[in-house]
Amino acid sequence: MSGDIDVIIIGTGLAGLYCAMHLRDDLKVALMTNSKITECNTYLAQGGITTVLNEADKELFIQDTLKAGMYKNNKEAIEIAAEEAMDNIITLQNIGVTFDKKDDYFDFTSEGGHSVNRIVHYADLTGKKVFETVLAYVRTKKNITITENITLVDVLIEKDACKGVLVLKDDEPQVVYSKKTVLATGGIGGLFKKSTNQRILKGVATSIALRHDIEIKDTECIQYHPTGLYDPKQREKYFLISESLRGEGAKLINIHGNRFVDELLPRNVVTKAMLEEQKATNSEFQYLDISFKEEIYLKNRFPLIYKECKERGIDITKQPIPVTPVQHYAMGGICVNLDSQTSMKNLYACGECSCTGLHGANRMASNSLLEALVFSRRAAIKMNDTINEGELEEPNSGVLIEKEMVQRLHKQNEEIIIEHIKNVRGDLIYELVEYR
Ligand SMILES: Cc1cc2nc3c(=O)[nH]c(=O)nc-3n(C[C@H](O)[C@H](O)[C@H](O)COP(=O)(O)OP(=O)(O)OC[C@H]3O[C@@H](n4cnc5c(N)ncnc54)[C@H](O)[C@@H]3O)c2cc1C
Repeated sequence: MSGDIDVIIIGTGLAGLYCAMHLRDDLKVALMTNSKITECNTYLAQGGITTVLNEADKELFIQDTLKAGMYKNNKEAIEIAAEEAMDNIITLQNIGVTFDKKDDYFDFTSEGGHSVNRIVHYADLTGKKVFETVLAYVRTKKNITITENITLVDVLIEKDACKGVLVLKDDEPQVVYSKKTVLATGGIGGLFKKSTNQRILKGVATSIALRHDIEIKDTECIQYHPTGLYDPKQREKYFLISESLRGEGAKLINIHGNRFVDELLPRNVVTKAMLEEQKATNSEFQYLDISFKEEIYLKNRFPLIYKECKERGIDITKQPIPVTPVQHYAMGGICVNLDSQTSMKNLYACGECSCTGLHGANRMASNSLLEALVFSRRAAIKMNDTINEGELEEPNSGVLIEKEMVQRLHKQNEEIIIEHIKNVRGDLIYELVEYR
């Protein structure tokens, strides 16, 4: 593949696309993804993106995020997110994201852990809208190429610095050199039987980090979302019933019709209460009820959830929705600094595969897209400022790649991360796909 690429970005979710969007126009940027471009978690996001309303809300947002994260967070990362949140939302708006409005300003909503309404959204299709808008913008840039169906297998390391990536394209290995490499490969849900995530997301960035002793952090912190749509026959990703339903007043009730938890507590607390209630009532699910709201309101505010449930025979305007906790998010990943730099020179990571420490032990709702925006832009700014610095050594172009060896590494990636999860979260072993 062409040897004069400045920045390779692996992953075309929000983190990868938004990073590319902020790189200098004179840099040659290659975005790559292992699947169809829409097959990312960003596309699925429903609820919205956290922002910070004003100066007074900054401290409140910091405290809410710390509390949800059980004070395991990196406070500096939260402060930066608070500082830069609205600027990024305005950038999205300027390129065409039409967030829902009320009285000519954002129609802020709430979700678990937030003490005020501060989440911007586009109905319950926020991720799709943001993804399509940023993608359309990136496609206008002549310096950026996007290639689908390229699978990252490993990073190339020479003299303790990243020099590019080793990938599989149409099952054939290829080496791609670059001055800077960005991993934006998303979460780990594809390894779990019950997850809201796209099935192709299998934590490849963490596997690569483990292989090369690149620092990782908080990988034991795996979030379950309280309200996956219950379906005992589900073998693909679970459909998510967004937390914003609870933000708009939906109630959780057990199979006997009784409430048992404050619905707006952080996700880990609600999940724990649900699992205990399932044991106590000998059931595999609870119900989430929002049918008391007006039909027209529900159809407009939650068009995706209304449609998806209707197709499964559930009318959310008339009946409660069966729900159960499912794997949803990885708080941990490749450890990065506040400019998204990893412990390996010239290697960056952003989005869900990275760990800025913003989320601590438990992510507060709608903080993931915020993190992807803030820290992928910071990565781009850092690269813009430093890419021409110092002597750049030419990579050793004689890297030997044998197809069998690359395929073996590819297979190993999944084995490495599974082994790691078993070590750090022994309690989740039977939740993994390999125990199906
Ligand atoms: C159903 C659902 C609803 C959500 N709702 C919200 C919400 O309302 N608000 C919020 O803040 N967060 C939400 N989240 C979380 C949020 O969507 C994700 O954390 C965020 O989109 C991650 O963005 P990303 O760019 O890091 O990863 P992704 O968007 O998942 O993109 C990852 C990319 O990496 C590529 N990739 C992976 N492995 C490889 C490989 N080996 N080789 C090449 N490419 C690879 C994928 O193909 C993809 O392009 C939700 C998540 C889900 C699943």
